[in-house]
Amino acid sequence: MNYNMSKEVRVCPICKKKYSEHPALSRVDNKTEICSACGLAEAWSDYIKYYTKTNKRSI
Ligand SMILES: [Zn+2]
Repeated sequence: MNYNMSKEVRVCPICKKKYSEHPALSRVDNKTEICSACGLAEAWSDYIKYYTKTNKRSI
């Protein structure tokens, strides 16, 4: 029944997957907890946006 109590299982609002590892904070509002994979993806898209905005060289 509650054999999995020690691990808190969350559902990522972005990919809808269940995860039990430490959540990442969404950069959209800084309070939504998302899975680390989506956190990484957001971090990357942020980085790419920043990079392309500040660096006009083609990648
Ligand atoms: Zn996710």
